[in-house]
Amino acid sequence: MTAQTTDLSTNWTLAELQKLHDSPLMELLYRAATVHRQHHDPNEVQVSSLVSIKTGGCPEDCGYCPQAARYHTDIEENALMSVEQVKAAAERAKGLGSSRLCMGAAWRNVRDDDEFGQVLELVRTVNGLDMEVCATLGMLTPNQADRLAAAGLYAYNHNLDSSEEYYKEVISTRGYQDRLETIGNARKAGLTVCSGGIIGMGETVDDRLKMLLTLASLDPVPESVPVNALVAVEGTPLEDQQPVNIFEMVRMIAVTRIVLPTTTVRLSAGRTEMSPEGQALCFFAGAGSIFAGDKLLTTPNPEAFADMELFAALGLRPTAAYAKGERPVPTEDPGPPGEKQRVRWSRPGHKIERNEAKRH
Ligand code: SF4
Repeated sequence: MTAQTTDLSTNWTLAELQKLHDSPLMELLYRAATVHRQHHDPNEVQVSSLVSIKTGGCPEDCGYCPQAARYHTDIEENALMSVEQVKAAAERAKGLGSSRLCMGAAWRNVRDDDEFGQVLELVRTVNGLDMEVCATLGMLTPNQADRLAAAGLYAYNHNLDSSEEYYKEVISTRGYQDRLETIGNARKAGLTVCSGGIIGMGETVDDRLKMLLTLASLDPVPESVPVNALVAVEGTPLEDQQPVNIFEMVRMIAVTRIVLPTTTVRLSAGRTEMSPEGQALCFFAGAGSIFAGDKLLTTPNPEAFADMELFAALGLRPTAAYAKGERPVPTEDPGPPGEKQRVRWSRPGHKIERNEAKRH
């Protein structure tokens, strides 16, 4: 295989992705690195921070998540963080080199209540600090997406997690199509989209590739795709999963890079299991972002100084905020919807045995 010019086509087939994924690693890396430097500065990596603004007590049954109220984990439920708390966390993150702040709430979906009003205020506050503001709050109606956009949100994160088929083996409380609908609602509101998945949940390589095909079929494709390695947390249904091999991670990042050439690929959860050399390979394969801070929502993450040492050793620079888009200027809140606009999300409710076995 020779390094090829970038293919911006979204018409990849599963067979093509399988061939790419299984090609000799050095060939795959060379091709991914070539695509990466055609569209991105290979010496820049965005540092993002994740703040869990509302932790634990989630009604969903995601098999990987310690925040699901139904599993026995040591995560305690906390109230929604105040504007002052989030502002302090954002300023701290910015001081450590982060140009993007992602705020996560352990909710099934956003409700049109006072807490959402507080989230809108959090978005306005962090936007005012000149950081890219991302939120991950669960399913989102068109009106809620509009209100977040008006508050100055830059990106909405809503992960597909895996293929549609394997999603049903991990989560029973909501459907894949609702995920795609939420992504569509964020997109229509003018938000950029962040959506990716988790590897190491027991899925096949084909499940990973099918998820990439779904992401590549979105029009436009997501600006941001996080690739997470499962952090198997005690008490969750996936607690016994073995950590993914670094080369599986590198292959997934490389294929994501080639299939979605203009997207920022984010090396996300699971970095504590990776050596500096393994992370360097991920950057070479096209990862253009890491999450900083000693926690990723609730799971461990390398400390900031270790990240900066790694950046110095590799000659990497942190990417500035809004390097790939305009900072949204907050506008007047359009307000909550009338009764008729309310959306009802599905609840498949099929039984997943390993989830049931871990219930209280
Ligand atoms: S991943 Fe999100 S929706 Fe699923 S249980 Fe955890 S907090 Fe809830």
